[in-house]
Amino acid sequence: MHDSENPRESIEEFGARADTWLSTSIPPRWKSERGALSTSESDAIRRDWDRTLSEAGFAGLSLPKEFGGQGMGLAEEVAFHVLAAKAQAPDGLARIGKILTAPLLVRFGTVAQQARYLPKILNGEEIWCQGFSEPTAGSDLASIASRATRVSGGYHIRGRKTWTSFVQHADRCLMLVQTDEQAPRYKNLSLFLVDMRQAGVTVDDIRQISGAVHFAEVQFTDVFVSDDDRVGADGEGWKLAMSILSDERGGAEAATRYVEIRSDIDALLETCGDRPDLAAELSALDIRAEALRWHLSKVVDLEGEQGEAFLRAVSVLKVVWSELWQDVTRAGWRAGNPDDREHWRFQYLESRSASIYSGTNEIQRNIMAERVLGLPR
Ligand SMILES: Cc1cc2nc3c(=O)[nH]c(=O)nc-3n(C[C@H](O)[C@H](O)[C@H](O)COP(=O)(O)OP(=O)(O)OC[C@H]3O[C@@H](n4cnc5c(N)ncnc54)[C@H](O)[C@@H]3O)c2cc1C
Repeated sequence: MHDSENPRESIEEFGARADTWLSTSIPPRWKSERGALSTSESDAIRRDWDRTLSEAGFAGLSLPKEFGGQGMGLAEEVAFHVLAAKAQAPDGLARIGKILTAPLLVRFGTVAQQARYLPKILNGEEIWCQGFSEPTAGSDLASIASRATRVSGGYHIRGRKTWTSFVQHADRCLMLVQTDEQAPRYKNLSLFLVDMRQAGVTVDDIRQISGAVHFAEVQFTDVFVSDDDRVGADGEGWKLAMSILSDERGGAEAATRYVEIRSDIDALLETCGDRPDLAAELSALDIRAEALRWHLSKVVDLEGEQGEAFLRAVSVLKVVWSELWQDVTRAGWRAGNPDDREHWRFQYLESRSASIYSGTNEIQRNIMAERVLGLPR
């Protein structure tokens, strides 16, 4: 985006501006007392952070200006995530809304949906979750069983979603549901923007192996959603879900993980890089971190293409960063330093989930086999 009165700043100028702002804007308690904060204190800081980002003009960096974004590109989005991770900024609660719902509504939403939802996504006032997976449908997403039946002015939704991240905070859910039992596979689903603050929504927390509670199972019992809150046409849900999944695997999370992985490898190299039992493993991880940086740049370069090439690149990126993170945490644990045992224990267990969410790595490898290597199904 370029206009003569207000020429676009270069990526270097943007980075310098963002870095200066981050250096004075991160809540001191987040940095100094992070480990000691209660969940509610930490959530309050994360929620405030979304508002602070919005007020300072750092929310929706890659969304067009006419939709309340900053009119920049994926390069600025990734650069900001890298700088924010280096500065140890909080991770906001508005992630699903910003990464998944907002780009979807810009591409496929009605004018009314864009006006109703985008401002509150960008300022963090409304938190979103993603209701795709079900107890009997994950990788095979097209086999979901939640069903919406027609009622006056909209639908009643009945069914069960699971592994739903951020649902404990969520005001709205981006939800994939069956709307036509008779229609063929892939033509029988629709996508809805569901109000989570109504009767009929029941949330049961699920604790992960690390001890953290990032997600829950959710029961929907005759929950109303109006026609105005269906995105796209009835039966178009699969196409929209595929667009959402490619945004989910995109650069933002990989950028944050890259910084964490890089800093963990640097710390390990410094403390045990010359240990005979670890030196070769740490050198290999160091090289893989550079390859991850390269893959990230590749995805940024392919931003404009949004088609097959982008989809292939984000599948590769997802596998590269998630498996590197898991291997770094294994090396950290094996290093056996008593001072950071708890850090590595938690990181090791947390990293297990990275090869599962946003589509498992086996599924990403299927995509690579078929679409990158052209192998038969
Ligand atoms: C931390 C975390 C957060 C999540 N957040 C959300 C969320 O917010 N919203 C949401 O909707 N979902 C969420 N998920 C769910 C996630 O998308 C699913 O777990 C994932 O898609 C896998 O589905 P599944 O668990 O049903 O496993 P399954 O699909 O049952 O797979 C079981 C195993 O079989 C393998 N497998 C399955 N099919 C194939 C195949 N065709 N070829 C090769 N191998 C195969 C899988 O790779 C896996 O190893 C989250 C998951 C995690 C771990």
